[in-house]
Amino acid sequence: METKLKELKTRLVEVNDLKSAAGLLQWDQETYMPPGGAPARARQIATLQRLAHEKFTDAAIGKLLDDLRSYEESLPYDSDEASLIRVTRRDYERAVKVPPPFIARLYDHMSASYQVWAEARPANDFARVRPYLEKTLDLSRQLADFFPGYEHIADPLIDYSDYGMKASTVRAIFTGLREQLVPLVQAITGQPVVDDACLHQTFPEAQQLAFGLEVMKRFGYDFERGRQDKSHHPFTTEFSIGDVRITTRVKENDLGEALFSSMHEAGHAMYEQGVRVDFEGTPLAGGTSSGIHESQSRLWENIIGRGWGFWRFFYPRLQAVFPDQLGSVPLETFYRAINKVEPSLIRTDADEVTYNLHVLLRFDFELELLEGRLAVRDLPEAWRERFRADLDVVPPDDHDGVLQDVHWYGGLIGGAFQGYTLGNIMSAAFFFEVALRAHPEITSETEKGKFGTLHSWLKENIYQHGHKYTPSELIERVTGGPLSVEPYVRYLRDKYGELYGL
Ligand code: ZN
Repeated sequence: METKLKELKTRLVEVNDLKSAAGLLQWDQETYMPPGGAPARARQIATLQRLAHEKFTDAAIGKLLDDLRSYEESLPYDSDEASLIRVTRRDYERAVKVPPPFIARLYDHMSASYQVWAEARPANDFARVRPYLEKTLDLSRQLADFFPGYEHIADPLIDYSDYGMKASTVRAIFTGLREQLVPLVQAITGQPVVDDACLHQTFPEAQQLAFGLEVMKRFGYDFERGRQDKSHHPFTTEFSIGDVRITTRVKENDLGEALFSSMHEAGHAMYEQGVRVDFEGTPLAGGTSSGIHESQSRLWENIIGRGWGFWRFFYPRLQAVFPDQLGSVPLETFYRAINKVEPSLIRTDADEVTYNLHVLLRFDFELELLEGRLAVRDLPEAWRERFRADLDVVPPDDHDGVLQDVHWYGGLIGGAFQGYTLGNIMSAAFFFEVALRAHPEITSETEKGKFGTLHSWLKENIYQHGHKYTPSELIERVTGGPLSVEPYVRYLRDKYGELYGL
């Protein structure tokens, strides 16, 4: 049986190598590739993804999985061997349902659509990208239909990113959250507006990037096994456990943009870097789900990076980098500015409290588009109306409206956004309910710019397991129960209640 397991691993590593090569081409497309490379690049990525898919869905892998079934059943459920066979079988059974020519068409289209979006967004030209988005919707529906028997057409797509979740379960969690969030947002917006002018002076790019690097190194992002470049939309990508890269974008008139997005992506990257090295190249490497992944990025970005303790240490350092801009701004003023709650247009710039409303509306739009209740051509107007209703702001154009996120233009419609809010909810459950109770010294260490205890706890309890457990298994192992929104709501109420004197 060991020989068969070895053969399975060898085949899986080859699949992973093809996917990593495609990922590197994609990273290059979004960072350094000249525009002229676009048509060939779309084809190259599609070819590699198709080959990876063909190799993974080879009948020989199905045969090995069948042969290994009794061996798997003889092993403890959470042994590495049983987990590798179990997770591979789950992925395999899903992959064989999708024909390789469809995969090639899908990746080819996503790559072409991304390129058109990258030009259409600065030009505020939704009409240009609209046919691509219509095709994306069509392909998303076709993909879902390879998994008949679903309760909602979004279910198979949600399952890709947050295994085990359905439209109905996500909707139930989001409805509960929304009931508690809306009154909080209303109470805060009834208070005087916080002055955040200190963040909107001129902050030269080089110094911003250097400060962000210092923060990420202190968090524990290993730059011997990672790097940061610039792209339209910040992202994390990994080619192996030893090469996990992030990107950021800088605005010289907005100090928060690059800094918080760097902390966010560093959280994703540290997760990938912390997976056990012997999982390398197998389906056990990589994060568990988009929700668990976001819980890691949001934990570092928000719970730590927008926290009082963090800035007690880092603010004097930031003032030393920007003495003219921040030298006379007190810590208290800066802290209030970075935690200003204000209904706004851009999801990635949104504060912690209103952020989830941005996610909830995108989730609802995905369901409506897939159900056929909303047409792509009506999306920009629906977007404006929903913003008016939920946030009382109206995007002046599509650039800051429906064109703002890469997800639907470089990926699928369905399953693209729920992970962000699920991650927020999980981040508070992991941090406040478990990590901080086990290690109260995390608070004082944070005030000294030290994150070793927290980083080790995350490695031990979350990172190292990679993809071994399902999201609900991991949540159960870490918190001892199912996912609850209460710790997250309590965190928001406590923090913002104090900031806004509620
Ligand atoms: Zn993220």
